[in-house]
Amino acid sequence: IIKYLIKSRDFEQQYKLATTDGLTDLYNHRYFQEQIRMQIEHSKRYETEFSLIIIDIDFFKKFNDSFGHQSGDAVLRQVAQTIKKNVRATDIVCRYGGEEMSIILPSTDNKEAYFTANKICEKIAENKFKLANGKSTNVTISLGVATFPADGENAPDLIESADKKLYEAKNSGRNQVK
Ligand code: GH3
Ligand code: MG
Ligand code: MG
Repeated sequence: IIKYLIKSRDFEQQYKLATTDGLTDLYNHRYFQEQIRMQIEHSKRYETEFSLIIIDIDFFKKFNDSFGHQSGDAVLRQVAQTIKKNVRATDIVCRYGGEEMSIILPSTDNKEAYFTANKICEKIAENKFKLANGKSTNVTISLGVATFPADGENAPDLIESADKKLYEAKNSGRNQVK
């Protein structure tokens, strides 16, 4: 039994390592790609909708240049935690790459996802983020929302739709949802 328990704990640690991003503790890109494909299969089978939100921190290059990469990393972690706190336990929050994050919202239509995205946008904008030197500052994010199957019937198309919306949010002045 003890051998079995040790093995199963090892497996859990390996699984966490393989699916989690080390900096933010969010799910990693590979897990995101797996899960979006699983959601598509599930939603096709049960004829339900689900939504995808893609998030990008505004002017983050400038942020790093002004406050340093240590503070950038610290803020990235706090943004990730703020997002996690404001979604359902069933939503899957991932680090898409760099300062971009994605959320898969199972059984969620476009209107609900848009509402959630707006809530996250507001929470981030009103939050104070701690810098490495103990001071704090504000950051904002831009978000794009897409819903299966209306905005894309496969993973690349759905991601592209959310990306286009994110791009629109950036071009409309950032700190908003499209
Ligand atoms: P925009 O509002 O258009 O998104 O501007 P931006 O500066 O955020 O966009 P850009 O894609 O030019 O830059 C993203 C920056 O994010 C570049 C890089 O310095 C920073 N970044 C990406 N990953 C990390 C990370 O893990 N840690 C830190 N500190 N910075 C990161
Ligand atoms: Mg970016
Ligand atoms: Mg950015």
